[in-house]
Amino acid sequence: MTSAVERREQLKEVWQEARTCTKCPLSETRQTVVFGAGNADADLMFVGEAPGANEDRGGLPFIGQAGRLLDRLLEEVGLERGDVFIANVLKCRPPNNRDPRPTEIETCRDYLHRQVELIEPKVICTLGNFSTKLLRDDPTGISKVHGNPEVVVLGRRAVTILPIYHPAAALYTPSMLDTLRADFAQLPDLLAAPLPPQPAPEVFEPVPEVEPEPEPEAEDSPEVAHTPEEPPAAAAAEEPEPDVHQDQLGLF
Ligand code: SF4
Repeated sequence: MTSAVERREQLKEVWQEARTCTKCPLSETRQTVVFGAGNADADLMFVGEAPGANEDRGGLPFIGQAGRLLDRLLEEVGLERGDVFIANVLKCRPPNNRDPRPTEIETCRDYLHRQVELIEPKVICTLGNFSTKLLRDDPTGISKVHGNPEVVVLGRRAVTILPIYHPAAALYTPSMLDTLRADFAQLPDLLAAPLPPQPAPEVFEPVPEVEPEPEPEAEDSPEVAHTPEEPPAAAAAEEPEPDVHQDQLGLF
């Protein structure tokens, strides 16, 4: 059993890995990797599609108009950003906000699965088509499944998924706001319900110990090699200063 503090530290390690990720071509056009932000021990996670222009600049998810609407909807059910964790399917902005491509989603999905495993939410709200299709592993569109909670297994975690429309949809179609409100209204009951039964933990076969190779005889040399654990002093002195996005994880 891993403690919340340990999981938070491991989440920071995943963030450190993601923030310099170049695994897909979006790394060439993004300004910032938008990993996600919020409570690292949240019972409720939101998963959107991908960062937009504001998020790409600011390094945080849902900081534009759609984000303000999300805050309002949260407030109406007695929650605030500090209670939840918000992430996206893609951590980097697709150019001109085009739709995520299947290869990008496939390449990036491991980060999301690791976020879910480490945050251990009880409920995940998928916001819009892309996250709903990905996390339900089903091509059915959001209009057919929104507001219908179901249990799915993501990585090694069973969670309740509640698909809802992306808040941006209500910015363009105001009548959508009532639908969003009705779906949000289910959250308090879903959060109060017991955790779905979890999959059995994986059993790892013990790895047989391998005898170490004998060290080769040291040659006469005045130079002292640096071990990987002991970086040269000069290299340590050149460690870059933390940049402005160091705080983008925004953990509470
Ligand atoms: S979108 Fe995901 S996989 Fe692609 S570069 Fe960004 S973090 Fe890496």
